[in-house]
Amino acid sequence: MERQDQALGQIAFVNAALGEGMTENLAAVRARRCWVVDLDGVVYAGEHALPGAVAAVQALRDSGREVAFLTNNSRHRRAEVRRKLLELGIPCAEKEVLNTSCATAHYLLHRGLTREVGVLGMPGLAAELAEHGVTLAEVDVCATLVVGIDLDFTYEKLVRGLRALRRGIPFIACNRDANYPGRDSQLLAGCGAMVAALEAAAQRSPSYEVGKPNPFMLELLCRGLQRAKADCVMIGDSLEADILMAERAGVPSIFIGEPPPPPAAEAALRTLPTLHAANLADAVRLVLGPGMYPMY
Ligand SMILES: [Mg+2]
Repeated sequence: MERQDQALGQIAFVNAALGEGMTENLAAVRARRCWVVDLDGVVYAGEHALPGAVAAVQALRDSGREVAFLTNNSRHRRAEVRRKLLELGIPCAEKEVLNTSCATAHYLLHRGLTREVGVLGMPGLAAELAEHGVTLAEVDVCATLVVGIDLDFTYEKLVRGLRALRRGIPFIACNRDANYPGRDSQLLAGCGAMVAALEAAAQRSPSYEVGKPNPFMLELLCRGLQRAKADCVMIGDSLEADILMAERAGVPSIFIGEPPPPPAAEAALRTLPTLHAANLADAVRLVLGPGMYPMY
């Protein structure tokens, strides 16, 4: 009980820094039946689930809420992200998981950019595009360039990408995330670092950015779930991606992470979440109330 009291006390303290409307904010989040949850830094870090995250998802479902997952990470195919969640003990249907590999495939189909698509990214991104009927091509001769996170990014790839982009072809970025938490919550360079390198070299910006904060991802997820955005609340650890997307989509949000020092809280948070919690378990405990949430 002590752990729970302490957690609730911290949450109340942090949320007080967000303003006077705490009760209204809590009511706004409580009314939402579909929790859209970011993955890296909220559900897992690297290969491991974060403490309390698996039980928190189950508690939400036990309360009658739907839970879906939305990640900017383009490293894997959608089916692989789902399999990782299953292995961590989080049952989910494929339609309840959306990553930028899959969202990018949908965007290319929507725009008719399905022929001779070059990929600077991981094999999972290329495989997902191909699975959706996109024809892949070498970067040197491609008609559209898609850029995702690439753990094998090299100077040579940068030069090939630069030459492709100088031909004036569509430049599609999976996202602009600068970094994200890996194993032991140590930061790793995100897709945005690769996009920025190409942008600097080719002296042009992406034609389209698929991932959060673009509400396109949320709209695509909602279509698959047959849910309205008005049913959703977004939970994430990035103000620039998750919380800004929620703001643009007009849905409430819960920011997960270390609180900024209270006096600086409002100034630091240019994009204000509806609520704030240290982790997913605390967020669920706050919204469901202590009586509804099992101890861990
Ligand atoms: Mg995250």
